[in-house]
Amino acid sequence: MDASLEMIYDEMLQRNGEQPEFQQAVREVMNSLEPILVSHPHYTDAAILERIVEPERQIMFRVAWQDDAGITRVNRGYRVEFNSALGPYKGGLRFHPTVNLSVIKFLGFEQIFKNALTGQQIGGAKGGSDFDPHGKSDAEIMRFCQAFMTELYRHIGPHTDVPAGDIGVGGREIGYLYGQYKRITNRFDAGVLTGKGINWGGSLARTEATGYGTVLFAQNMLATKGEVLEGKTVAISGAGNVAIYAVEKAQQLGAKVVTVSDSSGSIYDPEGIDVALLKDVKEVQRARISNYAQRRSSAEYRDGAKPWGVPAQIALPCATQNEVNAQDFAQMVKGGVELIAEGANMPLTHAAIEEAKAAKVLYAPGKAANAGGVATSALEMQQNDGQTQWTFAKVEEKLEQIMANIHDTCLEASEQAGQPGDYQVGANVAGFIKVANAMIDQGIM
Ligand code: GLU
Repeated sequence: MDASLEMIYDEMLQRNGEQPEFQQAVREVMNSLEPILVSHPHYTDAAILERIVEPERQIMFRVAWQDDAGITRVNRGYRVEFNSALGPYKGGLRFHPTVNLSVIKFLGFEQIFKNALTGQQIGGAKGGSDFDPHGKSDAEIMRFCQAFMTELYRHIGPHTDVPAGDIGVGGREIGYLYGQYKRITNRFDAGVLTGKGINWGGSLARTEATGYGTVLFAQNMLATKGEVLEGKTVAISGAGNVAIYAVEKAQQLGAKVVTVSDSSGSIYDPEGIDVALLKDVKEVQRARISNYAQRRSSAEYRDGAKPWGVPAQIALPCATQNEVNAQDFAQMVKGGVELIAEGANMPLTHAAIEEAKAAKVLYAPGKAANAGGVATSALEMQQNDGQTQWTFAKVEEKLEQIMANIHDTCLEASEQAGQPGDYQVGANVAGFIKVANAMIDQGIM
C-alpha cells in the first residue's frame, strides 16, 4: 500500500485496537484499492476510505434471559449499522460464543461490498450475540430470541435496517424474533426480517440461496476456462445451511461432493454425500455430523480433522472465518484443488489467499461467491413490498442471473484495476466504486 493508504490504515488500527478480524477485513479491501484511488483522486479528496471504515452506528446491549432451570443468564447483543449509502442496512445476525465486536464489524464491513455487488438497494450491517445455541432447549432459544428482539426492535424497520440469519440463526430463530417484533410494535411489517417462513412472508429458495449461489459462482468461474462442474469432485467444509445447499446444488449439476465437517471433525464419503441423510442429521435431529457416519456405511468420520487433502478439484469452505490457513491450503493442493469459492465469510486467512494466488488457483472471495443469500433476501423484501410470492423457479432463475452478473462484474473490475482474473481485487474494486459514488452523491456525513 502507498504512504497515504498506510496512514489511513494506521489510523483505523489505532481507533480499533484489539479487533483482529475487523482489521484483517479492512486490510484485504484496502490492498485491492490502490490503483483505483490513484486513477480516481476524487475518492481520496472526499475521504471515502476514512469514512467507509467507520460504522455509521454501533449498538451494543444487554440480553438477559432465564434458562430452563430458572437461572438468569446474561449475553451481549450487537447490531453494527455500517453503511446505508445504497439502501437500508442489511445483513444477518450471528449467535455463536465467538461473537464479539471485532467479528460483527468484520462481517458488517464485508457486507457493505457484498451487498453492493448484488446490484440491489441494500446497505451493509451485521449483528448477533455471544449466546451459544448449542445444547439449548427450544424454549430457551425462544426466550433468548424474545429478549434479544425486545431491545433490537427499536433500531430496525423495513426501510431502516433489515436483519436476517447467519451462523446459529435459521428459520426457527427468525420465527421467534419476528413474533416478538410483531408483538411489541403491533405491526405485521413483513419486510423487517428476511429468511421468514414461507407461509408468513418468506421467499421460496431463500434457505437454499447462499449454498446454491456459491456453486453457481464456481460454475461461472469454471466456464471462463471452458470447464463444467459435471464430473468434478468437490470438498466442502461446514454442515450448516450454506454447506448443505452447496452439496445439493453441486450434485444437481453433476459433481460429486465427498466431504462436510463441523467443529468436532469431518466426514469423508467417497461415494458422494447423501444430502437427504445430511439434512435429516442437521435440520431434523440437530445432531453432530458424526451421526451421519454412523448411519452411512460408505462414510468415514475423521475426529478432529478438517476435510481438506482428499482428492478433489474444487474446494468450497462453508464453515467460518479463518478456517483455512496456509497449511490447510497446502493440503487442498495436495488433493488436486484448482478452484476455491468461499461460501463462508472470510474463511481463508491472508496467508492462504496469498498462497492461492501464487499457485494460480482460481479463488473467489465470500463477498462475491456467497452473495446469493443476501441477494435472495433482497428478493424477499421485494416480494413483501408487492405483497406477493414468486415460485421457486422464478426466484432461482433470478439468483442465477444475479450470480452470473456478480461474476462478470468482478472480472471486469479486475481488468479495470490492472489485475485481470483476480476475483478478490475485482470484488473489492467493483463494490467500493458503487458505494463510494453513492456516498459522494449524498454529501459529507
Ligand atoms: N448472513 C448472510 C450473509 O452473510 C445473509 C444476510 C442477509 O440475508 O441479510 O450474507
